[in-house]
Amino acid sequence: MGKGNLEKLIVPGYGEDYLMNCPQCKGYKAVNIHLISIKVYRGTDATTINEKGIFVESIPNPSPGRRGARIEIEYNCEQEGHHGIIALQFHKGEVFIQHEELAKTAEGGLLNLLDDIWRD
Ligand SMILES: [Zn+2]
Repeated sequence: MGKGNLEKLIVPGYGEDYLMNCPQCKGYKAVNIHLISIKVYRGTDATTINEKGIFVESIPNPSPGRRGARIEIEYNCEQEGHHGIIALQFHKGEVFIQHEELAKTAEGGLLNLLDDIWRD
């Protein structure tokens, strides 16, 4: 688990929208991020949505104390092949934003990206 550049996660986009920056890219604007999967943990189960479909499994919530939902967004960065998870963890009325770095998918470039959840 590492904080990465979470403080620079949201950057101005188009109109009223903002863009998600790569939390691992340093020193430059890197907004070409792909959404690989979403995983929602409850108390004793988790639902994952990825390019293969929707899956529910029996698995304990990995958060300490298991006191609230955890939502994990897996991403992949076009620029450097960064791969990681941004997590929203509810705990006692607060939502923590956490970051986990995973192994890079490549040295960058579109050819080495993981599959998106869905794209047209
Ligand atoms: Zn990156």
